[in-house]
Amino acid sequence: MPWTDDNGNMRVNRGYRVQFNNAIGPYKGGLRLHPSVDLSIIKFLGFEQIFKNSLTGLPIGGGKGGSDFDPKGKSDREIREFCQSFMTELYRHIGADTDVPAGDIGVGAREIGYMFGQYKRLKNVYEGVLTGKGLTYGGSLARTEATGYGLIYIVQNMLEKAGDGIKGKTIAVSGAGNVAIYAAQKATELGGKVVTMSDSDGWIYDPKGVDLDVVKDIKEVKRGRISEYADRVGRAEYHNSETSKVWSVKCDVALPCATQNELDVNDAKTLIKNKVKAVGEGANMPSATEAINAFQAAKVLFMPAKAANAGGVAVSALEMSQNSQRLAWSFDEVDSKLKGIMKGIFDKTSEAAKQFSSPDDYVSGANIAGFLKVAQAMIAQGV
Ligand code: NDP
Repeated sequence: MPWTDDNGNMRVNRGYRVQFNNAIGPYKGGLRLHPSVDLSIIKFLGFEQIFKNSLTGLPIGGGKGGSDFDPKGKSDREIREFCQSFMTELYRHIGADTDVPAGDIGVGAREIGYMFGQYKRLKNVYEGVLTGKGLTYGGSLARTEATGYGLIYIVQNMLEKAGDGIKGKTIAVSGAGNVAIYAAQKATELGGKVVTMSDSDGWIYDPKGVDLDVVKDIKEVKRGRISEYADRVGRAEYHNSETSKVWSVKCDVALPCATQNELDVNDAKTLIKNKVKAVGEGANMPSATEAINAFQAAKVLFMPAKAANAGGVAVSALEMSQNSQRLAWSFDEVDSKLKGIMKGIFDKTSEAAKQFSSPDDYVSGANIAGFLKVAQAMIAQGV
């Protein structure tokens, strides 16, 4: 996709859309803008998305897309021009009943807005072709919060089954983007204390509990760096990500919410040594396989991404329903549906774990429960 930067130079980036499986509904999955994006990353994300979407119980297939365009440090005009150029290529492959992309790393309401506007110009139709839209033009209330809130709802379900809960827990969160911020917000509301957040440069430790108004101002308004938190909140410490990670902090619950492979086996060992009770994956596949094995061997409750962060795509599917009906539901209505969907995912996951593996093996449970529905639909449709 060609675009011009603010100095008038022509730049070209590569874009991807992988339409992986549409057995149970139109392809659905986010668009990621990050310099690391390549076909391999988009394919693993798309593959995971199939089973995550199946777990929600809603009629959505699996896909994923993105580009190696780096939004960091770009002006609003550059972002707009890039998004328009991306959609100029993408529009012929997507549609409300074909493939409905959403946001992911580097793609929030601003980028979705630019892409939606370009789609409408090119196709001359007003349809719910993207989710995560702004509230003035077809977005759903609670979509912004959905992934983070959903993560906390399912971690709460998992802790409750073990006779425990979020209340009173010390929580380590990584990331400071959409998922991390709203996971921290709901966890705090339920009586947990979130003591860390991070970005790709470093992380903060706030022993009194992270002040989310400050984080939102830095990340959502000023689009700045998390290091500014320590400048603004005197009691907090800032650490560089090259020397350590949030997982070195003692916590009861760990919530990786930044990106893939951000929690390795050594991090898992540190968390286990510090007596972590539960881990919930807000990001997509943030834990290395050896780390997951270590958690399970140590009997740490572990909820994998495809179940834990499915709240985002679930509310995206609710946004599609609202667009089709040309209606808008209230925040409470969407939030209570989200809560019900996360409970449904938890029940399906634990039921499959009990039937096919062992009762607390939510990794197998989520894989098997997600897979069965897709496989049955494919067989019924003549493969
Ligand atoms: P955002 O772009 O809003 O935030 C991402 C955060 O993670 C930022 O703090 C970013 O720091 C950090 N980060 C990104 N890449 C890296 C990296 N390579 N190393 C270290 N830190 C990194 O994205 P989201 O919050 O939307 O997404 C976070 C994760 O959640 C991703 O794995 C995504 O796929 C997953 N997810 C998101 C959903 C959603 O609804 N948004 C739904 C389901 C899953 P920096 O600013 O420095 O890059």
